[in-house]
Amino acid sequence: MGFRPAVYRVARTLGLAGYVYNDARGVTVELQGEEQQIAEFLVRLKGADKPPAAQIKSCQAADIPVIEGQSEFVIRQSESAGIALAQVTADMAVCPRCLSEMADETDFRFRYPFINCTNCGPRYSIVQTIPYDRPNTTMSIFRMCNKCAAQYTDVTDRRFHAQPVACAACGPKIWLADSKGKPTEEQSDKATKETARLLREGRVVAVKGIGGFHLAVDALNDKAVRRLRRRKRRDHKPFAMMAASVEKIKEYALVSEQAETILTSPQSPIVLLPKRKNAAIAPSVAEGVSTFAFMLSYAPLHYLLFAEGIEVLVMTSGNISDEPLICKNDKALKSLGRVADAFLMHDRQIYRQVDDSIVHFVDCEAALLRRARGYVPTPILMLEACEQEIFAAGSDLKNTFCLVKQNQLICSEHIGDLEDAEVYHHYIDSVEHLRGLFEVEPKVVACDLHPGYLSTQYALSLPAEKVIQIQHHWAHIASVLVEHNLAGPVIGIECDGTGYGTDGAIWGCECMTASLTDFERFGHLAYYRLAGADAASKEAIRPLLGLLKKTYGEDFDIEEFRWLLEPIEPDMSRQRVILEQIEKHLNTVDSSSLGRVFDAVAAMVELGNYNHFDAQLPMALEAIVESSVEESYSFDLLGSAGEPVQLDLRKMIRQLIEDVRAKKEPGVISAKFHNCIADALLAMAHKAREKTSLDNVALGGGVFCNRYLTNRLVRLLKQGDFNVLFNREVPSNDGGISLGQAAIAAALLRHNV
Ligand SMILES: [Zn+2]
Ligand SMILES: [Zn+2]
Repeated sequence: MGFRPAVYRVARTLGLAGYVYNDARGVTVELQGEEQQIAEFLVRLKGADKPPAAQIKSCQAADIPVIEGQSEFVIRQSESAGIALAQVTADMAVCPRCLSEMADETDFRFRYPFINCTNCGPRYSIVQTIPYDRPNTTMSIFRMCNKCAAQYTDVTDRRFHAQPVACAACGPKIWLADSKGKPTEEQSDKATKETARLLREGRVVAVKGIGGFHLAVDALNDKAVRRLRRRKRRDHKPFAMMAASVEKIKEYALVSEQAETILTSPQSPIVLLPKRKNAAIAPSVAEGVSTFAFMLSYAPLHYLLFAEGIEVLVMTSGNISDEPLICKNDKALKSLGRVADAFLMHDRQIYRQVDDSIVHFVDCEAALLRRARGYVPTPILMLEACEQEIFAAGSDLKNTFCLVKQNQLICSEHIGDLEDAEVYHHYIDSVEHLRGLFEVEPKVVACDLHPGYLSTQYALSLPAEKVIQIQHHWAHIASVLVEHNLAGPVIGIECDGTGYGTDGAIWGCECMTASLTDFERFGHLAYYRLAGADAASKEAIRPLLGLLKKTYGEDFDIEEFRWLLEPIEPDMSRQRVILEQIEKHLNTVDSSSLGRVFDAVAAMVELGNYNHFDAQLPMALEAIVESSVEESYSFDLLGSAGEPVQLDLRKMIRQLIEDVRAKKEPGVISAKFHNCIADALLAMAHKAREKTSLDNVALGGGVFCNRYLTNRLVRLLKQGDFNVLFNREVPSNDGGISLGQAAIAAALLRHNV
């Protein structure tokens, strides 16, 4: 990220002699000169002269004897061992200086859609292999012109060794094509103008960006957005949007100071922002949620488009339903020809598809919900190195995987749900690619305990010396621990949809005492029966019948609840079949899943009966919470000696059904339900503290993507003098599992367990 040239420039300006180089441990600078100058050097490097994308995590300085005869400052060739670690960085949004050059008529990159410098531009998405040098990127086919080459080789220039450096004379080009791929505008300015015209008309345009194609449509035009939904076969899931300025975003959403910092960062992720009342965004962009997903333009091409009078665009991943993001021109034409009316293409090949990252705010802190562009492959660091290299396979849903090299945890970008065959192939390719990029040869493999997971089966098929299978929820808690540089033990509270338990049940509301080397189940939601494996996480009637049976036991009569159940599943005979399965324990599992309880409650307050995408019903339930309500439902914690504490929600279910019968406001019911869950988890934490004297509570699992619940629980825990930890650098959902697996495997190896 241009750190060495920055060091060079500052040292030279201050008349210091010495050298700079980097290796796997970081950057080493030797300086010779006046004491005051050296002090000034440190101030400048940490402040105004620090490259924007660089982060100085620690800085140590020591005096060394003077070396005679040094008069110059030089950049030394980096020593080779482990150098790969420090080389490939994440893709960065176009920087302000490049933007102003792009707007400057006298600059030779005026209106050039691929302008970049050491402080910005694509990196990870264009690297084919190491070392990170132009011939090993997809820029290798473009021969630099003299002007570009002069900047590239000038150590004092902002473009010194910026591998993707290019201009209109020598670099990639854009063009506009029709839905068949036939070019319609090949001149750069005309192509952006015509694209903007099509978008204003309500057309769908596939726009090739940094990490892949987006499908773009005018976000203020409901008819156009609906057309995109129909064609993309995506009926419900909210779409992300893009605007060219924070001011524009503020017209539609509430942007806090912290949110603004994240929106304008070089990582430039999508940020979930509370909707403004009566915002003019087309209703079909984001129904059933309380937030809009906004990002700022981050590629120069985006800025050129928005400069043509576009307000806000839906910018959703260019793919069909849950397949991998498309990044190649021919594949885009083949797969998206029926979705897009036109294609804004370019000839800079994207080697790695990288989705947009997503950030939300928990307890006023930014936390990643999807970690990809801008963040990958930046490693997460452990305090202690691990001698062996490790591959952690991750989870099957929202998959990421993770490599361990020395003290670095290198998490992959968001891969997706492995049950899709294309995603699974992409997963295997991605593992190979990242292994190559970081020169990792893992002899140790970590994976989930679930025997049916494809990631587990893949991990088991590898020629490893050691395989470590790790319980799902333990991995969630471990991901929190390693992010906070803790080894534990802590009280882990883990709320989730699905995870395979050590007893073969499907866990999902757990309280454990956990460290990186061990865990013990302290308590959990009392088991209820879930009928019909995969369907149970889609159809709300299934967990609902399981919970009703659990609550009313022998007395449960489906006819008495006809008024409640019929709107959810009109086919009463189907209901009876499911109930019979539950009663006879046929094709059912015992479960403590909290995610499914959310599904059942959402269905009872008539928010829908089916999860068309993951967590649709829980998100709808969160969106209607009446936040002024402080009331809560009742629950019990039951315990018998030697057994985990049981969280019993039968009272809550009875009271909630009475509220539904009394036609209480759904928003009030939702609030009382959320409050009850927060109270119950707090009570569980108190009980765990009584027994263990631990004060640290780590929250993990997909349910904590629910901001209302998490914010409330964090507040209650803090009021109870707990120290609360949650995921920030990786998602609290299954996207963070691989990090937890890797951290546990590294700790076990370190302790020879
Ligand atoms: Zn730049
Ligand atoms: Zn050039």
